[in-house]
Amino acid sequence: MRATTVSIVALTSAFAALTSALTTARPPTSSGQTCCRALKAVLPDDTFIPNSTVYTAEYQNFWSSTEDLNPACVFLPNTTKKVARAVQLFTRLNCQWAIRGGGHSPIPGAANIDGGVLIGTNHLNAIDINHKQGYVRVGAGNRLGAVYNALDPHNLVPIVGRYEDVGLGLAVGAGFSYLTNREGLTIDNVLNYEVVLANGKVVNANKNSHSDLFWALKGGNNNFGIVTHFHLKTFPYNGTVYGGNIIHPESAFDQVADLFYDYHTHQAVDDVLTHAMPSYNYIGATDVARAESLVVYNAPVDELPPILQPWLEVPYQNDTLSRRTYGSLAREQGDGIFNGLAVDQRLFSVYADREFLKVAWEIYLQWLRDRRDVPGLVGVHVPMPITPNQIAQGVAKGGNALGLESTDNGKSIVVILMLLNFNNLEDLPRLRAEHNALMESLVDLAKQRGVYHPYIMLTYSGAGQEAIASYGSKNVARLWKTAKAYDPTGVFQRLVPGGQKLPRA
Ligand SMILES: Cc1cc2nc3c(=O)[nH]c(=O)nc-3n(C[C@H](O)[C@H](O)[C@H](O)COP(=O)(O)OP(=O)(O)OC[C@H]3O[C@@H](n4cnc5c(N)ncnc54)[C@H](O)[C@@H]3O)c2cc1C
Repeated sequence: MRATTVSIVALTSAFAALTSALTTARPPTSSGQTCCRALKAVLPDDTFIPNSTVYTAEYQNFWSSTEDLNPACVFLPNTTKKVARAVQLFTRLNCQWAIRGGGHSPIPGAANIDGGVLIGTNHLNAIDINHKQGYVRVGAGNRLGAVYNALDPHNLVPIVGRYEDVGLGLAVGAGFSYLTNREGLTIDNVLNYEVVLANGKVVNANKNSHSDLFWALKGGNNNFGIVTHFHLKTFPYNGTVYGGNIIHPESAFDQVADLFYDYHTHQAVDDVLTHAMPSYNYIGATDVARAESLVVYNAPVDELPPILQPWLEVPYQNDTLSRRTYGSLAREQGDGIFNGLAVDQRLFSVYADREFLKVAWEIYLQWLRDRRDVPGLVGVHVPMPITPNQIAQGVAKGGNALGLESTDNGKSIVVILMLLNFNNLEDLPRLRAEHNALMESLVDLAKQRGVYHPYIMLTYSGAGQEAIASYGSKNVARLWKTAKAYDPTGVFQRLVPGGQKLPRA
């Protein structure tokens, strides 16, 4: 007992020392204009100031209007060397900046910045397949559709997200893919991160070199450096798989609830070639609710196999199931998505529980109906499983920062995404507060039923949610230790203020 107490005290004081070393007062930051002038002087072709055509096209090039801010300039480097040069300059001048991958985080300031430099990774767009070693080297600015399209002709697939427009930010956060039930999360299938550190040095972080940084980047977001290239493990496949979307009407919701539970506890667990993204949505303008789920069998078959047949046994309205490439699946998902709306998303986790999953959607649907007059209101509710095999894959592939293995009780964890879209940013403060209160009440309900799980998946987290703190104090201390080793003056804490940051003591 005593030994445990001592080690927790030691851990806490080491953590406090590390955080205070990284948060010691520094000189004030330079103005955005000063930084942009200095940047333009050394990298004129890649730096774009307000009112230029490129700036205008880029500064609010984000999935949600919630990310629309006013950077002092936009920097679009096309080489790692230029990124390194800029970071050295920013560190020396104390300039603040944001790093944008595909721009899909709806957390204001996660990948954009008011008055600082927006680094858009778009021009880091190489895609080089290494057939011999079984990976693809991708520039950090690629959208996932481009990666699928490059690999499909070679009958190869990476473990990345399911929508063509999403970027590679998920490869420093978590990442659900078509093959996650078999291979684990995206972060567990990154073989190497090429990273620009705070001092402008470029390192390769992998299991043999800078392995502490490699571990930290698997969930550590933008807290350690700018990743310029990822080596993503590739997997052979037959060129086609079977899948598409299935739409179930509100009248079938009772059966759909059972179906979703069956996916989390049986289908996803007992056949690792299955993949589904169970999803409900509600559109305020039409007052229509339905379930619209992506369902895939990762094999070259011509119909859903028996384990996925329950999706067609519940009365459904429509389906787009067919035999197709991963690129085609990613395109279809991208096509169906709302763009440019104001967004608030909330995320919490539970252990799979039939009654809770059913009730959580019923409560959310009523909450949405009560707000149907909000202009442009669309609510989406997506329960997604992290199966025991996904966690095991993470461990087998070298471990990650998420801390899930310590809470694994052999049951699927369900991350529940609550995604609220609407037209007007003016409605954001009120709706965010109400949305968060609703989520907190669902969390309380989950706790009362004994099914709550503390994990907050970073890639689907919302503003104000502390995703990295949810990894547990031991992993947070290890992340701070790594931050101190690679960024002793805390550049990525002070000068990259947006998005999910390492939690303070
Ligand atoms: C329509 C839609 C579909 C989605 N589908 C999926 C899915 O199928 N599977 C899934 O797991 N998730 C999915 N997500 C969630 C998605 O993974 C996250 O939104 C993710 O953060 C998006 O990455 P991004 O590069 O597009 O976002 P960004 O907003 O550009 O980046 C997100 C965060 O990562 C940091 N970051 C980005 N690139 C780098 C880099 N090179 N170096 C250091 N830090 C960096 C940014 O600073 C930012 O804080 C989806 C989201 C949306 C909106």
